[in-house]
Amino acid sequence: MSESTQPLSERSPDELAAFLAAQEAAYADLKAQGLKLDLTRGKPASSQLDLSDALLALPTSATDAHGVDTRNYGGLEGIRQLREMFAELLAVETEQLVAGGNSSLVMMREVLTDLWLKGGVDSERPWGQEEKVTFICPVPGYDRHFTLLDWFGIDTVTVPMNDDGPDAEAVARLAASDPSIKGMWIVPTYANPTGSVCSQEVAERLASMPTAAPDFKILWDNAYAFHHLTAAEAKSADILSLASAAGNPHRPIVFASTSKITYAGAGVAFLAGSVETVQWYTSHLGKGAIGPDKLNQLRHAEFFGSAQGVRDHMVKHREIIAPKFAEVDRILTERLGGLGVATWTKPTGGYFVSLDVLDGTAARVVALAKEAGVALTPAGASFPRGEDPDDRNIRLAPTFPSPADVTGAMEAVTTCVLLAAAEKLTA
Ligand code: PLP
Repeated sequence: MSESTQPLSERSPDELAAFLAAQEAAYADLKAQGLKLDLTRGKPASSQLDLSDALLALPTSATDAHGVDTRNYGGLEGIRQLREMFAELLAVETEQLVAGGNSSLVMMREVLTDLWLKGGVDSERPWGQEEKVTFICPVPGYDRHFTLLDWFGIDTVTVPMNDDGPDAEAVARLAASDPSIKGMWIVPTYANPTGSVCSQEVAERLASMPTAAPDFKILWDNAYAFHHLTAAEAKSADILSLASAAGNPHRPIVFASTSKITYAGAGVAFLAGSVETVQWYTSHLGKGAIGPDKLNQLRHAEFFGSAQGVRDHMVKHREIIAPKFAEVDRILTERLGGLGVATWTKPTGGYFVSLDVLDGTAARVVALAKEAGVALTPAGASFPRGEDPDDRNIRLAPTFPSPADVTGAMEAVTTCVLLAAAEKLTA
């Protein structure tokens, strides 16, 4: 083993002191560069948005394939032409799918609001009338899921997110034992931020497990369903069929959108569930809307042409972003590999890399990076209330910066990881 790859934990105090001095010098050089880089934003690069610019000249006619004049009011559930396409992609029946506005996160907030005010199709009373409502949160997870729960005053209990999805044993134990536990979040495919893909077995367990709350909900946020980084495309578990077969048809509510397929600000969002859930959702939606932006839906239907059109389009995204993920992994491996100071995910899809540094150093790494001009997502962001109990996890988002900026930012991040580790081990 060369000296440079010997784990830090095996080095003598003198060797560690020398290592710390070297990292301090490297960090001083880094700061002198006056960088201004940003790895916080899980959003598409402009070159990805350019892939969809044909949308700007569509639709060619305002009448959809079923003769609906999309310029007018009506059709709360969205235009059939686009719902058929995404029903095929999401492996659900068209009747089980709603096409809505530009944000699936808004749909999630609407669903929680409806549960809170009215209760679900299988609820005894509105959730807002319960003494306490608790949600199971796989961690690390998506920060906005957690802030949404906070906003409702919903308590959280965390379970580990494994490579094959949430720890199903832990989820089943919690859900069976406490009637205040009304639901769970899951990003089933290429999870934010770990890249985990929920296996059919884990999904089956979640769909069929006994729950103390009769109206337990799985909020299945399939935001990255088609966002593959390799040719081996993961297939999402078929949660609606699994739940239906287990006698719990109203348990899952599925969300997806084209935010990272076409335009992040002007795409189309989708909700799927049992036919009763879809009626429940649209009946509430109808209190505040007479119909969605069907013109934008038609524009998308024309642009893709078919479900295969969506798949082909996603290959173009992959060609742009896969090299950025490869660069992140190359730099992490070359600079941190073997030192025993970090582990990281190697996602095969999605938008993030999840980096675990030495316990107790994540916040320090983020602060060091900030001082050197590199913005990282705040440490702890992937945990409820922003509190990572181990102060270990950092979410990296390499899609938005240019390839050169990804390289510069990752070299800086690894310098900060090494300095923070050296500081800790010599303290
Ligand atoms: N769900 C997850 C897991 C996300 O990572 C994001 C965006 O980062 C969203 C939902 C937002 O989706 P939308 O743009 O459809 O509101």
